[in-house]
Amino acid sequence: MLMQDKLAYVAGVANHRSIAWAIAKALDREGCRLALGYLGEREKQEIDKLVGELKQAPLLVSCDVTRDESVGEAFALLGRECGRLDAVVHAIAFARREDLDGRYTDTSREGYHLALDVSAFSLNCLARGAEPLMTEGGGIVALTYLGSERAIANYNVMGVAKAALEAGIRYLAGELGPKGIRVNGLSAGPLRTLAARGIKDFSAMHRMHAERAALKRNTEIEEVADTALFLCSHLSRGITGEVIYVDGGFRIMGG
Ligand code: NAP
Repeated sequence: MLMQDKLAYVAGVANHRSIAWAIAKALDREGCRLALGYLGEREKQEIDKLVGELKQAPLLVSCDVTRDESVGEAFALLGRECGRLDAVVHAIAFARREDLDGRYTDTSREGYHLALDVSAFSLNCLARGAEPLMTEGGGIVALTYLGSERAIANYNVMGVAKAALEAGIRYLAGELGPKGIRVNGLSAGPLRTLAARGIKDFSAMHRMHAERAALKRNTEIEEVADTALFLCSHLSRGITGEVIYVDGGFRIMGG
């Protein structure tokens, strides 16, 4: 029971395929009490269908990371209901389809701002909101992807957003470290989720990953969830500002 008597806020559960949902189940399995962030009523209905699978009933928190007042209300509720947080999971990203299908060169100003706002600046919002609640330190984990450091076809502006997210992880880790708050990234191999459906030719990317990865197979969502659990728990107490790859060794292979 790695997370017995701990409290975690997990943002980004859209449905049963979400990485955030797999992480929530792993944390719950280890005794953690959960607050789950959702965007709108449609997502809340999805989460309502899932929560019966958890051992402990979670607190459901409405939070649109693009609106300061929504983030403020979410953390006010977390403060009132939980009083403290030990872990935060950021599994949030969005880019407009046309900014993923076309050339990166042609990304619109509006599309660029939206992708960076939802997918990178949002980590600032969550970290700032959580800081006063993480009175005993703890772990913040953000989901990222290899497109941050390599030009991957059809990942485009999302790769730039992930690069900003990863740089943000390092700055936040440096600033929050004295309070015992660790901030890390988890770079996952391609997984079939709702967000992944927005990436053109995702199936080809998925197939190629299994062919080239050192382990010669695709990443499993439970592997990602268990690493997120590790990064939230005291087992990773000496690690901060890092990006950990859970990609079956895809990144380390040559062409
Ligand atoms: P997902 O299930 O679609 O989750 C993405 C989440 O972001 C959704 O819950 C979505 O809510 C939420 N979101 C979007 N805009 C938001 C906003 N304004 N405020 C609050 N939440 C918002 O897809 P996923 O693949 O699990 O993605 C989770 C994270 O993993 C993302 O950061 C993604 O980039 C990363 N990741 C994914 C893969 C992969 O292959 N799937 C690989 C590496 C990293 P709505 O559905 O309501 O919009």
